[in-house]
Amino acid sequence: MNWKRAVGLDNLSKEYAFARSESTGYTSAQKIPDHWVPTTCGYCSVGCGIEVGVKDGRAIASRPFAMHPVNRGKLCPKGLSEHYIIDAENRAKYPLLRKAGKLVRVGWDEALEMMVERFRATQKKYGPESLGVLSTGQLVTEEFYTLGKLVQLGFGTNNYDGNTTLCMASAVSGYKISFGSDGPPGAYEDLQQADVVLLIGANLADNHPILCQYLEANRNKTLIVADPRVSKTAMMADIHLPLKPRSDLALLHGIAHILIRYNLVDRAYIDKHTSGFAELERFLDGYPPERVAEITGLSQETIFKTALLYGRAKAAFIGWTMGVNHSTLGTATVNAICNLALLTGHIGRAGASPFSITGQCNAMGTREAGFTSSLPGYRKFDNAVERAELAAIWGVDESRLPAKRGLAYPDIVEAAVAKKIRALWIIATNPLVSYPNQDVLGHGLSNLDFLVVQDGYHPTPTTELADLVLPAAIWGEKEGTYTNSERRVSKVNKAVEPQGEARSDFDIFLAVAEKLGCRDELYPGWTTVEDAFNEWRRVSKGRLCDYSGISYPLLAEQGAVQWPFPEGADPKCTSRLYSDGEFQTSDGRAKLVCTDWVPFPEQPNTSYPFVLNTGRTVEHWHTRTKTKEVPILERLSPRAWLEMNPRDAKRLGMRSHDSVDIVSRRGSVRGVELRLTEITAPGQVFMPFHFAETNVNEVTQDAFDPISREPNYKQCAVRIERSPVNARNGTRRRSLKAPVGILSRPTRPGANA
Ligand code: SF4
Repeated sequence: MNWKRAVGLDNLSKEYAFARSESTGYTSAQKIPDHWVPTTCGYCSVGCGIEVGVKDGRAIASRPFAMHPVNRGKLCPKGLSEHYIIDAENRAKYPLLRKAGKLVRVGWDEALEMMVERFRATQKKYGPESLGVLSTGQLVTEEFYTLGKLVQLGFGTNNYDGNTTLCMASAVSGYKISFGSDGPPGAYEDLQQADVVLLIGANLADNHPILCQYLEANRNKTLIVADPRVSKTAMMADIHLPLKPRSDLALLHGIAHILIRYNLVDRAYIDKHTSGFAELERFLDGYPPERVAEITGLSQETIFKTALLYGRAKAAFIGWTMGVNHSTLGTATVNAICNLALLTGHIGRAGASPFSITGQCNAMGTREAGFTSSLPGYRKFDNAVERAELAAIWGVDESRLPAKRGLAYPDIVEAAVAKKIRALWIIATNPLVSYPNQDVLGHGLSNLDFLVVQDGYHPTPTTELADLVLPAAIWGEKEGTYTNSERRVSKVNKAVEPQGEARSDFDIFLAVAEKLGCRDELYPGWTTVEDAFNEWRRVSKGRLCDYSGISYPLLAEQGAVQWPFPEGADPKCTSRLYSDGEFQTSDGRAKLVCTDWVPFPEQPNTSYPFVLNTGRTVEHWHTRTKTKEVPILERLSPRAWLEMNPRDAKRLGMRSHDSVDIVSRRGSVRGVELRLTEITAPGQVFMPFHFAETNVNEVTQDAFDPISREPNYKQCAVRIERSPVNARNGTRRRSLKAPVGILSRPTRPGANA
């Protein structure tokens, strides 16, 4: 306390002062900005319109962007406090280069010279593919597009992937197999128009809160939620299906079996628009209700009721998120969801859609701009015609375009372990918290000759390992576009200047290209992100994700528009894919897919008796790099917890608020607060994944979907032990060796030492 306060003088009057704001009435004087800048939320894929209040060049407030078509004047707690992430203490402000084992401040020129020199030297010695790049779903689409050209045409490697593979790669793979292309078919308003909404592994209330208002606006629906937990969304349901972990694929096959057996399918649609029905019908003989009841733990009556509701609906919607995607069976489960929609014709109509709700604010932009699992505009690597078309637009020789995709995220990590990837560029992601089985990742990163981490924040567990840290501008400090889960393209605007010497990712990519000597060839005349956007419009023209009619002025006028949006399209129209029954396959027909259910890979046993489920909480975002800097969010949810059913706790002699350790075959998480609740079924436990200090990914399993390469984050076998570490403050109650996560954290002695 300072002396004025000590003698009773009020030195906080500025903090208490209030004034009248045009939009909110009487409010704190400190919260009244000079002006508001419209933009799009930078957290989740709902894509809410938001306005940032700016005063004296600083972001001081956030409010909903009233005219935006997505959120209709509302924001969730993260959106309402988003401006706090800009002035956070842990912002990366200057380039840092490791010298003699320490990260020291250097100028941009030295940083980029060193980066290009080390990458080139590595590629010369070990081959072009010894360079890997791990990107994100956090950049604007223009940056993804610019980066993809730089990586594949500039550096000449296709070992490029993003953290989106940890999130929604199974939705992408599933769509490609069933429909011939990526691209969610429906729209948010379908949640309002469906008479049956089936949500599978989708806890919207925590993860995509603003979508709940679409559900609530639909008074006539039957809401069915399939989730092993009684999540907040399950509590909103008319019917909750508390199925056993990872039995959703069997449930979907069981529903399809009943639909066919009771002739609740649309034969005309199947005959005209699909292939593989006869094979699917035979395959589904293996999924009668009695077997599906045994696999899922649901009663036959419940399975019948669900099938009849879906089959008899006029318009039925199936939404899913990570409960489906985070699995070794993710792609197969997406295919089974698409099967249901195709069998009944619940696709391409108002209220009727299979619909992946994706994770990050611009995960969709990465999918469209491509370069990872496809070429830009959903072009296929192995399609010579599409490669030639793209090469012609770019004016480069076709041989420079890769004819197959490079390594996916987990395979880049494995290649680093095997010393095949020797240099890595990580952009706006924090794998030292988010990657499953941290020990393997640690091994891979410590093998690298040179690690560059480009991020808006430092220190993070990942930047601390870097040889070079490049400080990037973040949301609120740069311009571009995001695409949300319903294919709606929305403008992102700059409200304030970047912190310190941070530069936008777009500027960094152009500067790297300059050093590499390919700027003029790849980006002729480009100076602004709008130049990238205009080229992207040409590249996407005529493709499923056609942006050719979208422009920055149109986005400013409309708030946001959905693709496909060819020139002359009506911005007010809701756009749905496949309304004409024409799919992106070679014969124009969607494929009905048969993939058998199998149990998840690591089943519980007497040593590891619990199934651990992981997920999110509404207050936090991903690895909490941003949200732990937002006071109100951090106060609401300051530490991780473990949910356990009271019956299990009684058997183990544990009580609520006990401190526990979670132990798997791969490691342990120490000192987590126990919460007893019927939300989690006996034999299962749940823990949020946001917390670096108690990182659940010390114990998760590095098992991956064989097609999408997405990790099986949702189930692994663990045991729960009473902990000597105090869950609330991390102190130890008695002598104990360091937590496994801390011991196993890799170190980098300094490649430039
Ligand atoms: S629902 Fe998602 S997009 Fe909307 S405000 Fe919340 S975090 Fe942002």
